[in-house]
Amino acid sequence: MQPFDEFHGVVRASEPLAPLTWFRLGGPADFLARPSSAEELSGLVQQCTQAGLPWHVLAGGSNVLVRDEGVRGLVIHLESPSFSDVTIEGARIVCGSAVPLTALISQTARAGLAGLETLTGIPGTVGGAVRGNSGGRQGAIGQFVRRATVLEPDGQIRTRAQDDLIFSYRRSNLDDCVILSVELELEHDDLEAVVRRMRRIWIVKKENQPYGHQSAGCIFKNPTPEISAGTLIDQAGLSGRRIGEAEISDRHANYVIADPGASVADVLELIDLTREEVLRQFGYELELQIQIW
Ligand SMILES: Cc1cc2nc3c(=O)[nH]c(=O)nc-3n(C[C@H](O)[C@H](O)[C@H](O)COP(=O)(O)OP(=O)(O)OC[C@H]3O[C@@H](n4cnc5c(N)ncnc54)[C@H](O)[C@@H]3O)c2cc1C
Repeated sequence: MQPFDEFHGVVRASEPLAPLTWFRLGGPADFLARPSSAEELSGLVQQCTQAGLPWHVLAGGSNVLVRDEGVRGLVIHLESPSFSDVTIEGARIVCGSAVPLTALISQTARAGLAGLETLTGIPGTVGGAVRGNSGGRQGAIGQFVRRATVLEPDGQIRTRAQDDLIFSYRRSNLDDCVILSVELELEHDDLEAVVRRMRRIWIVKKENQPYGHQSAGCIFKNPTPEISAGTLIDQAGLSGRRIGEAEISDRHANYVIADPGASVADVLELIDLTREEVLRQFGYELELQIQIW
């Protein structure tokens, strides 16, 4: 008997992952599942546990680089409408994890709610953002999260209250579970003021970040709040450096861009080179922000 036999139509074997990631690179998943309900998702996770198979969650794919060998075990792609509900009551929002972050930002702005506009321009989903506490200089999503409903590794669905949630720089304690939905609390504000702030942030981001290319955002975390990884990489003389068809962006040196024909090896070599040079020249060991699978 093959694993996941009873999940006919939900799980496929040897499925390519590249089209599901912003880098558009890398090999297939042994198994790829697109569950349509939390119950189905729970069954899949329990089956992985029983069979001793690893599992991973792939949402918007904007922070993941898949190696050429692909991913062992099960990749769970969250995209179903059952993970995409949004309800707004006053300043409280309950939002499914598969909702695109940009859609939530627009929806809350239209409801006259402020806070999430600081995240303008961040691709991917609400679940991916909460898991990695995505954000920028003006704040991160974790500060608005009041509760998270998650599928625990034992297959049970539980709600974690604010006291059980820890968010720090590009990190949360939600990396051992599947985030199903989150409750956020924002503040009431004037729609026009929120939209003005969104526009301002978007203009600055578009100027400074290479949108419209195959990338996964910042490769490295900033080593300290005052010192940006991008500045160190630029000062190391690496802006614009190419290996094969991959390039360290000359617009934002913490981005690696994969041009057509680039391989995962090209990107990984640039990452290694950057780490070596920044350590050699400045003594900082850069920590990855992207997930390499
Ligand atoms: C052009 C560009 C600009 C970017 N700018 C920013 C920025 O300004 N600030 C910033 O912080 N990031 C930025 N990023 C990185 C990325 O967009 C964010 O990290 C985003 O929040 C990831 O969401 P995703 O849905 O794409 O997650 P994925 O890439 O699919 O997954 C990322 C990680 O989260 C986990 N995950 C995803 N969904 C869930 C879930 N429901 N439950 C549990 N785990 C889950 C995955 O397993 C994986 O480990 C940028 C990326 C790009 C390409």
